[in-house]
Amino acid sequence: MRALELTSLSSTSVVQRPDPVAAPGEVVVEVLACGLCGTDRHILRGEYPARLPLVMGHEFGGRILESRADGWPVGALVSVDPNVSCGSCRDCSAGRVALCPDRYAFGVDVDGGLAARLAVPAGQLSAMADDVPSHRLAFVEPLACCLRGLDLAGLTGGESVAVLGGGVIGQLMVQLAAGAGAGRVTLVTRQTPRRTLALGLGATDACTPDEAEERLARGFDVVFECAGVLPTFDQAQRLARRGGSVILLGIPPQEAQIPIRPFALVCDELRIQGSFLNPLTQGRAADLISAGLVDVDALTSRVIGLDEVGTDLAGEPREGEVKVVVDPHR
Ligand code: NAP
Repeated sequence: MRALELTSLSSTSVVQRPDPVAAPGEVVVEVLACGLCGTDRHILRGEYPARLPLVMGHEFGGRILESRADGWPVGALVSVDPNVSCGSCRDCSAGRVALCPDRYAFGVDVDGGLAARLAVPAGQLSAMADDVPSHRLAFVEPLACCLRGLDLAGLTGGESVAVLGGGVIGQLMVQLAAGAGAGRVTLVTRQTPRRTLALGLGATDACTPDEAEERLARGFDVVFECAGVLPTFDQAQRLARRGGSVILLGIPPQEAQIPIRPFALVCDELRIQGSFLNPLTQGRAADLISAGLVDVDALTSRVIGLDEVGTDLAGEPREGEVKVVVDPHR
């Protein structure tokens, strides 16, 4: 079968790999869609730890081709949680499965979904409604990560929310915050098409990072950092109001440092909280997408084949684009 391999940093190629076979408790998934993500670019550049050589891709789903797991019939449409935890350590027992010391991820630590087929443990599967269009499968994992951020923010309704970064994570976060009852949702991003898009998805207003500086005095109850660049980690702290929360979803370079204002942390009771991966949120994301309650069609910019992935990942996302989805059978 064909697969997209990251052979060494910044170097990808389409390779032939043996067809996978399901072990007991596993299924083989015929991958129908796999999303490209900001984290894939970080992996390509060596900014996020990964095992090489690697078949990339951690946002994927498809149809079960072979099953050796009870309750998962051949032909079922599924999404795959790429993060595999041990399930028994202290963190897993407390529900913090993303922090499991033995956690590994498809498309990061072991071969992933930018391939025609993949064998995965049945415990990683979420059932999808059978009529969900293939490209929507690529959004389950990123939506699950955003649900983690939403849970940590603890919105109860009526809050003012800023979302920094208008990529897929930011656009999903806008929809979740609006759906959770936020009174004001402001998307902060540089590109006009992305601001326009967010206004159609539940944002009450949208502005550039410079314009956001002018709104500092007012402050936001919750700021979601969804860009993963140092200026937004800095700005997020300044945009939060006294007693507010900053939820960090963007992945910065590993050794990066930013200034922290300890006075504000203490005297403003500012909360800065990281949000990592999708602990126990994948099933909820699968249900939201199956029910069509989150608009991911508007976020799908292009569907490409494996041959185009290398060039696409090597460049920056194109102006206005949000999510590129790969169909490995194209
Ligand atoms: P993305 O498509 O690259 O979107 C991020 C966007 O942020 C950029 O495209 C850019 O859009 C915007 N941005 C850049 N500089 C900015 C600035 N100074 N102010 C405001 N916006 C700025 O990436 P993504 O897929 O949405 O992912 C976002 C981040 O989340 C990445 O770092 C990714 O690795 C991370 N992530 C984290 C988790 C988790 O579990 N924590 C899960 C998935 C992804 P403009 O050009 O419009 O400014």
